[in-house]
Amino acid sequence: MIKLYNTLTRKKEIFKSLKNEKVGIYTCGPTVYWFAHIGNLRTYIFEDILKRVLIYNGYKVKHVMNITDVGHLVSDQDVGEDKILIAAKKEKKNAREIARFYEKAFKRDLRRLNILEPDVWIRATETIKDQIELIKILEKKGFTYIIEDGVYFDTSKLKKYGRLWPKEMKILPGARIEMTPGKKNPTDFALWKFAKGRKEMVWDSPWGKGFPGWHTECVVMSMKELGIPFDIHCGGVDHILIHHTNEIAQAEAAFGKILAKYWLHGEFLLVEGKKMAKSLGNIYTLEDLIKRGFNPLSYRYFCLGAHYRSKLNFTFEGLKASQNALENLHEKVREMKSGKKEKKLGSKGKDYQRKFLEFINDDLNLPKALALMWNLIGDKRISDQEKYELLLDFDRIFGLSLEKVKKLRIPKEIKKLVEIRENYRKMGDFKKADEIRMKIKEMGYWVEDTREGPRIKKLKKY
Ligand code: AMP
Ligand code: ZN
Repeated sequence: MIKLYNTLTRKKEIFKSLKNEKVGIYTCGPTVYWFAHIGNLRTYIFEDILKRVLIYNGYKVKHVMNITDVGHLVSDQDVGEDKILIAAKKEKKNAREIARFYEKAFKRDLRRLNILEPDVWIRATETIKDQIELIKILEKKGFTYIIEDGVYFDTSKLKKYGRLWPKEMKILPGARIEMTPGKKNPTDFALWKFAKGRKEMVWDSPWGKGFPGWHTECVVMSMKELGIPFDIHCGGVDHILIHHTNEIAQAEAAFGKILAKYWLHGEFLLVEGKKMAKSLGNIYTLEDLIKRGFNPLSYRYFCLGAHYRSKLNFTFEGLKASQNALENLHEKVREMKSGKKEKKLGSKGKDYQRKFLEFINDDLNLPKALALMWNLIGDKRISDQEKYELLLDFDRIFGLSLEKVKKLRIPKEIKKLVEIRENYRKMGDFKKADEIRMKIKEMGYWVEDTREGPRIKKLKKY
């Protein structure tokens, strides 16, 4: 039983898929005008965890992610220039080159973070026809009007606009609403914007040359791949009030149906208490972290430490602590790896597995799951082999590449020294034993005396 917090109902709900064991997920993809920043990537990590939890529970997931390669304007309220055209001007490239370049960079970031690749990638520029079809339906049903700037959706025509809004909210928050001249209601949004001299990224339509609105793109792409309704729609919390609200409005107006059953939103990554955002100039990319010597998976670990519905403040100290914890974890896994055949879990091991499932299924409580993993590592009642098997099982959710951690290969001469030291210890000559331990240390290894005998570790290089 999986419980998920649904923004639509403002409740934690028991997840019930629409089609037996199949689940359709749509996650709003990147606007490819610049590298994703690690705030954006936090949202994709949260969505990856969601997908992994569904798969862990036996669901067959169809995950669709779009690439916004046209139509995302500087303001979510349909004003300002297209972000991709601004980048094209700046970098002296055409819009397509910009979009493809940053799309590639984005996919590389996902791989480096061990994010499972979506089953379907879909580009906004490749679904223009479908978008025009949707606008035609909305027009026929009387939900549109035309002004100098483009074709707009009349939100006052919909019985209930703002399904994702908090109950007390009547109008868009943040008093500064940029009203395009001719717009009937502040919440109305562009379905099709006229070209007005724009040369690139424009298409013919029944209303004249132009390009689609960002909110129309996502509703069309999700439905095209997943039908209507589909199971889960995700994004960051900044998509709740406008983007996702407007997707729901269009689907409801055109088809009388709610677009998706569950709406999940990831909270922001902050820097010094402020949202990480390109417009605020406080961003870091994954490449920035790598250049500073961080493993991308340390950032993934850092994100697992906070619940996806909590804000998370980014600091390099925090990231360093995550990197240390991850290295420590790899070290433990290395020690536990025996290469022996799989063993059936004992009752204690099964208890851990049950608890783990309980945590991840409770609205993706990864901080608790992570703490449980460390308890397991320290639990003396469980054998190393069992721990290793459980860790690999948990890593189906964590995605920290634990299966790739190699067994420690200890050079013969170290093994020999450890043996000699052990003999001295048995004879009670601890002075000699210590001397040999220091010698082993100089050679880059460390011996620990455990109840099961000496345990050898490779020392980290810094
Ligand atoms: P964009 O490329 O701007 O459409 O954003 C991609 C995704 O990142 C969206 O789901 C946003 O909601 C999300 N996002 C943007 N800023 C942040 C942030 N600071 N922390 C977490 N997610 C973010
Ligand atoms: Zn979207």
